[in-house]
Amino acid sequence: MYRTKTCGELRLSDVGSEVTLAGWVQRLRKMGGMTFIDLRDRYGITQLVFDEAKQAELCERANKLGREYVVQVTGTVSERYNKNPQLPTGDIEIVVTALTVLNASEVPPFTIEDHTDGGDDLRMKYRYLDLRRQCVRANLELRHRVCLEVRRFLDSKGFLEIETPILVGSTPEGARDFVVPSRMNPGQFYALPQSPQTLKQLLMVAGVDRYFQIAKCFRDEDLRADRQPEFTQIDCEMSFVEQNDIITLFEEMAVYLFKTIRGCDLPTPFLRLSWDEAMRRFGSDKPDMRFGMEFVELMDVLKGTGDFAVFNEAKYIGGICAEGCASYTRKQLDQLTDFVKSPQIGAKGLVYARVGEDGSVKSSVDKFYSPEVLARLKEAMNAKPGDLILIISGPDTQRARKQLCELRLEMGNRLGLRDKNKFALLWVVDFPMFEWSDEEQRLMAMHHPFTSPKPEDIPLLDTDPARVRANAYDMVCNGVEVGGGSIRIHDSQLQAKIFKILGFTPERAQAQFGFLMNAFKYGAPPHGGLAYGLDRWVSLFAGLDSIRDCIAFPKNNSGRDVMLDAPSVLEPGQLDELCLKVETKS
Ligand code: ASP
Repeated sequence: MYRTKTCGELRLSDVGSEVTLAGWVQRLRKMGGMTFIDLRDRYGITQLVFDEAKQAELCERANKLGREYVVQVTGTVSERYNKNPQLPTGDIEIVVTALTVLNASEVPPFTIEDHTDGGDDLRMKYRYLDLRRQCVRANLELRHRVCLEVRRFLDSKGFLEIETPILVGSTPEGARDFVVPSRMNPGQFYALPQSPQTLKQLLMVAGVDRYFQIAKCFRDEDLRADRQPEFTQIDCEMSFVEQNDIITLFEEMAVYLFKTIRGCDLPTPFLRLSWDEAMRRFGSDKPDMRFGMEFVELMDVLKGTGDFAVFNEAKYIGGICAEGCASYTRKQLDQLTDFVKSPQIGAKGLVYARVGEDGSVKSSVDKFYSPEVLARLKEAMNAKPGDLILIISGPDTQRARKQLCELRLEMGNRLGLRDKNKFALLWVVDFPMFEWSDEEQRLMAMHHPFTSPKPEDIPLLDTDPARVRANAYDMVCNGVEVGGGSIRIHDSQLQAKIFKILGFTPERAQAQFGFLMNAFKYGAPPHGGLAYGLDRWVSLFAGLDSIRDCIAFPKNNSGRDVMLDAPSVLEPGQLDELCLKVETKS
């Protein structure tokens, strides 16, 4: 037997018992004839002690151990003289009587402790060592618990967990596919699923009624902040449901997870905002509702009421009111201006107005506006003495709102209003069906092509498709989209029409989605579903800044696994087998 106890479980009540432990040497300290070792395993750290005076030979061998050596020790549990209240095992130590080295270790490239000296790249290269650190491992343990609770909840609601294939056909859902060449079918390729979307719909046609899967999804996108090319979804689908049924059930699931994982009670029902309203009030379809600072549209107040050409030419003028920030210095205001003018945000400038303690308004555009207009601005913004009004404008409403949204979030950060331990959940509903893509010069599905239009908007499909709203919904928490879904189309004619609006020829639609449209001919039930982003939920629960930290082996920002050194070139023999020849365009 390698061990009788783990390194995390011994307490004062065990004093006097003989135990055998196995683990890694985290630290070794020599102090006045005594050697102390912190022995670590998954469960914790236990102090070992060797007394040179009593066991010279044993102590000498202990002194030769290096960091991360794997050892087995037998000894007696004793009460510690210097207790360590930081450690659950901090009241005891093991007076060692036998030591076996199970494996040696080279000096690790960084210290394997919560506060490590290893930089990001090094930690990713040696991720298996990084994962030995308690703070990193804790995220994986949390992830495991979330999966367990998800399964428990969905099982209690009658969902069946069903696996769908990883090697599928290419069915673009908005992102690019990762493709896999087929040796047995030369020149042909599988694609990895961007999500099990069409397969779960086929399971509804198959009468499964309630399906879920903790599913790996793959999207070959340029990596934006906090995206991974492969990620995990809690993917769900239900038959004979309307939007409200889905929202109610998955709200219950969110409440259940917050209760079981974080021990907190979420107020229900969650707020529901239409996409239109979310854009108008927060400039985002995933507003962070932990704080207010809502947009106020100022076209009436500032356009055409003074000589400021920028506002007079604008299609949108909007402001936010930062409470108590009138005392911002010139330097702070310059920083904010630089922030909104940075290439990522792209605003042309920032207009500000300070409300003095006497209620007077001093703005950066004073010379263009009469005191009456500025007073109206203050009133429209509901600004109090001591407040700072920040205004963004532009020729494109959507873009200007996005810029103001970034500014709002930045102010939220500066004012400490985005507390990680506070959770503000809401649903955003009534998304537009389509959005215009400048790049592709066509309408694209905002959610995916299988989403149904709102019944009352169906006539608009023929006349003004851009105005059609979808039966689509997102769950948002703290400004992050944590899940989203829709009621699907279950009628092959309507599905064909949507493909047409999306620019598919009937032949291409048939070639790519024929299997789905055919299935719809055989009695497809009304159905809908949703997918939660597992990585995002876990990071939220753990208070992590990046989803990377809750993934055992993540990719870096260039989509590389630096530990496996993947992707990599293939051996010529492998390419031959696949009947492939690689020519890279430079
Ligand atoms: N398949 C969708 C997605 O990955 C989720 C859904 O509509 O259920 O976003």
